[in-house]
Amino acid sequence: MIPFLDLKAQTRTVGSQIDAAIARAIRDERSTWRREARAFEKRFADYCNVACCSAVNSGASALRLALLAAGVGPGNEVITVSMNFVAATAAIISCGATPVFVDVDPVTWTMNPALIEAAITNKTRAILPAHLHGLMADMDPIMSIARRHGLFVIEDAAQAHGAVYKSRRAGSIGDFGCFSFYPDKNLGAHGEAGAVVTDQPELARRVSLLLDRTQEDRSHVFARCDDRIDEVQAAVLNVKIEHIEAWTEARRSIAAQYDRELSSLALARPRPPSHNRHVYHIYALRLLDRDQALAMLGRAGIGVGIHYPVPIHLQPSYVELGYRVGDLPVSERLAREFLSLPIYPELLPEQPGIVAAEVRKVATQETRLFQSNWAFQDKMPRYGRLA
Ligand SMILES: *Cc1c(COP(=O)(O)O)cnc(C)c1O
Repeated sequence: MIPFLDLKAQTRTVGSQIDAAIARAIRDERSTWRREARAFEKRFADYCNVACCSAVNSGASALRLALLAAGVGPGNEVITVSMNFVAATAAIISCGATPVFVDVDPVTWTMNPALIEAAITNKTRAILPAHLHGLMADMDPIMSIARRHGLFVIEDAAQAHGAVYKSRRAGSIGDFGCFSFYPDKNLGAHGEAGAVVTDQPELARRVSLLLDRTQEDRSHVFARCDDRIDEVQAAVLNVKIEHIEAWTEARRSIAAQYDRELSSLALARPRPPSHNRHVYHIYALRLLDRDQALAMLGRAGIGVGIHYPVPIHLQPSYVELGYRVGDLPVSERLAREFLSLPIYPELLPEQPGIVAAEVRKVATQETRLFQSNWAFQDKMPRYGRLA
């Protein structure tokens, strides 16, 4: 058995440090000073290479705060992607605004910048790309479109702690970067936690106005949010942030091994451009017959994940947005065909090789399917060997 994720394994490696940190946080009589939270905010801002960080109680809260601080409200539209975890879309709706989806690029699986301009209207207030699976979206064209149209850019970086695009860290390019420290993320607390980062002090001030209930200046128009991080979660994160670089490198070397061992097969993967540092929150593959692959890998004791099987624009809870099958063909196709392999720093040295061997067996079947499946013809790039 190789589980898709093994959080206990991580707790075994840093558990005693965490126990001590939690005990310290609990014993600190002046926990209202937010000693742990402030220390973490400073560290995480440094890690992202930005001036300001507000630690909060989840990635979803981080997204909502960034949207509110960008002035997003009823009547506004926010351009985002459907090929993502649902939190960003839900946050846009919770601000009273409307999400407008654009399709993703078939090579990187992130927001396709060529589609953004056609989606802009006089109601658009922000663009919210996601760094899916740990690979940053193509930020240069996104930023230049946003600047040309006077729009905010909010990065959903919840899967991309430490990812890099052209020498710049995830969260540091847009006006805001939003992170989650849910336990299964690359940097995870032991419960709910998240952060909003920004390099612009004025925007940081707006976020802290939203967060600080003792704020003297009550003239601000913001609704107050009780979304701050608690000291215990911050204490856990202060321990784990010391390990994030080593953990990320471990993920990257497992990904490199998968790439190598699967390179000769007819499987499609997102291809990171060379200026990106992909941090592999998820290692994803496309398979023609995913159900068969799931069954075969399941029988072999390999834990696999699907993130996410139904694109947001086709989920029943979002029918009111008015999208139909076929509106976002690349996102829909990826949602049908991709699955993710186990990738976490605590995998034992022999385990990625075992996983790759099982995937090779599945892919042999795939190749046969590929040859007989003449319906598999559309504008998506053909299954092929990676460059
Ligand atoms: C996990 C995640 C979130 C939400 O974070 P929570 O801390 O669970 O609220 C948002 N966006 C993406 C891409 C995520 O993976």
